[in-house]
Amino acid sequence: MTTLSSATFASHYPVTGEVLAEYPITDRDQVIAAVARARAASAAWQNLGFAGRRKVLLKWSNLLITKLDEITELVSRETGKPVSDAKLEASLAVGHLGWAARHAEGVMRTSHRSPGALMANMSATVERSPVGVVGVIGPWNYPIFTPMGSISYALAAGNTVVFKPSEYTPGVGMVLAQTFAEVAPLADIFICITGLGATGKDLCESGVDKLAFTGSTRTAKLVAASCATTMTPVVLECGGKDPVIVAADADIKRAADATIWSAMSNAGQTCIGAERVYVHESVADKFIEEALKVARKIHPGAPGVGNYGPATMPSQINVIQGHIDDALAKGAKAVMGGSDSVKAPFVEPVILLDVPENSTAMTDETFGPTIAINRVKSMDEAIALSNASKYGLGSSIWSKRQGKKIARQLHCGMVAINSTISFAAIASVPFGGVKDSGYGRIHGPEGILEFTYPRTVVRARFQLPIAFTSFKRTKGNDKLIVTLTRMLNGRLG
Ligand code: NDP
Repeated sequence: MTTLSSATFASHYPVTGEVLAEYPITDRDQVIAAVARARAASAAWQNLGFAGRRKVLLKWSNLLITKLDEITELVSRETGKPVSDAKLEASLAVGHLGWAARHAEGVMRTSHRSPGALMANMSATVERSPVGVVGVIGPWNYPIFTPMGSISYALAAGNTVVFKPSEYTPGVGMVLAQTFAEVAPLADIFICITGLGATGKDLCESGVDKLAFTGSTRTAKLVAASCATTMTPVVLECGGKDPVIVAADADIKRAADATIWSAMSNAGQTCIGAERVYVHESVADKFIEEALKVARKIHPGAPGVGNYGPATMPSQINVIQGHIDDALAKGAKAVMGGSDSVKAPFVEPVILLDVPENSTAMTDETFGPTIAINRVKSMDEAIALSNASKYGLGSSIWSKRQGKKIARQLHCGMVAINSTISFAAIASVPFGGVKDSGYGRIHGPEGILEFTYPRTVVRARFQLPIAFTSFKRTKGNDKLIVTLTRMLNGRLG
C-alpha cells in the first residue's frame, strides 16, 4: 500500500481528460521507508520456499481471474483502450504469473559443474539466490502485462517487490498490490508506491537490489545513471522500431492482416508493434492492397466505440504528428490518412509508402497507429535495413521457406515467423532487446534468473597430497603443476 503523502496527482480518462482519482505522490523518505519494509519482509518470503510461494502466487492468479472484469474496466478507463484489449493483456499476464510460480524451483535448482582434472578432489556447485528487494518501474501502455513480466518473475524467485506504476495508470498499480495483499501471508512482500518521475528516480536511488524498468530509451538512460550511483543492477525494456519483413513467398493476406493489427491495435502503443515494413517488390502491390483493405475497416474511438482508443499520454500526439509530417516533407506518399489524421486525442490509421530511411518515422519510435511500407529488391536488403536501426527489440518475418534463415541474421532480441508479437505470449521464452531497446531479459527461465544471483560453492571432497595453495609448496610441486597444465591444456582442439 502507498504510504500517506500530503501531495497528490490525478489520473485521467484519456478520451475526455476527466479526472478519475487522486493518488499520493510518494516522497523520497517514503520511498526509502517502503524499500525498508520490503527488505524486512524478505526473509519470511524466502523462507516460505518454492512450494509456499507457488501457492500464494497461484492464489493471486485465481483472484486476478475472478476480478478480471473489474480490473480490466479500470485499465480501459486509465488508458482509453477497449475493454477486450485489456482482457487480452490481463489474461496473458496471468499466464506468465502461473508459469513463473510453477517453474522457479526448477530454474533455480543448484547446478553441479565439473571441477576439471586439476581440481578433481573438489565438488563444484552453483546455487541461485533471490537478489532481495526488486524495484519495478512500469509504463502505461500495457499497465498489467508489462510490469507483471518483472513482478511475477521477481516474486517467484523469492524477492520482495516495490512497484512504481506510470503516473497515467496508478490505479492499475494499486489494484495489483491490493489483490496481492488479499492472498499474501504477510504484509510488504509487494508494495505499490504511486507518484511522478521523481518517485521513480527515488526508487532507483533507494538501495533496491535490482531495478526493472520499462519505458522510453531516454528515461532508461536516466534510470541506469541513477542506479549506477549505488551499483544497483538494472534490466531495461525500452522502445523499438520493429520491422516486418515480407518475402516473395509469404502468405500476403495473413501478413497484411497481422501487420495492420500489430501496428494499430492499442493505438500503436506497443513496444513490439510493427512500425516499418520491408516487402519484396514482387509482392508489394498486393501487400499494400491487402493492408489498405484491413485498415479501412478500423477506426479509433472511446472504449466500446473504436477498434482502438486514444493516445494514452497526451504529449504522444505531437510525436506522432511530427513523424508523419517529417516523412511527408521528405517525400513519403500517404496511401491512407496523412497529416490531418491526428485528431487529438485520437489518431486515425495512417499508411505511408516509400518513406525515406532518414525520416523520424523510420528512425524513432512513433508509438502511434501508423505504418511505413517500403519496397526492397531482396531479402538481404530487408535484413540490412532492419538492422540499420538504433533499436533491436522484436521483428516479424513472413515467408513460407526463408523464415529461419532470415531470423538468424536479425540483430534483435525476438523474432516471430509467420505470426506477430507471439513471443510475448509464450511464457517459456525470454523477452527483451539489444542496442537502444535495452538489456537484460524478463519472461522464461532467463527472466527468473534475472532476479537472482549465482553463488558458487566448491567443497573439498578429499585432500590432495600436494598442497597447491600453501606456503609449504615445494619446487617439485611447481614442476608438477606445469607438467599437468601442459598435459591437460597443451592440445589444440
Ligand atoms: P517514460 O520512459 O518517461 O516513463 C516510464 C516510467 O518511468 C514511468 O513510470 C515514469 O513515471 C518513470 N520515470 C520517468 N522519469 C523517471 C526518472 N527520471 N527516473 C525513474 N523513473 C522515471 O515514458 P513516457 O511515459 O514518457 O513515454 C515516452 C515514450 O516512451 C513513448 O513515446 C514511447 O515511445 C516510449 N514507451 C515505451 C514503452 C515500452 O513498452 N517499451 C512504454 C511506454 C513508453 P511517470 O509516468 O510518473 O513519469
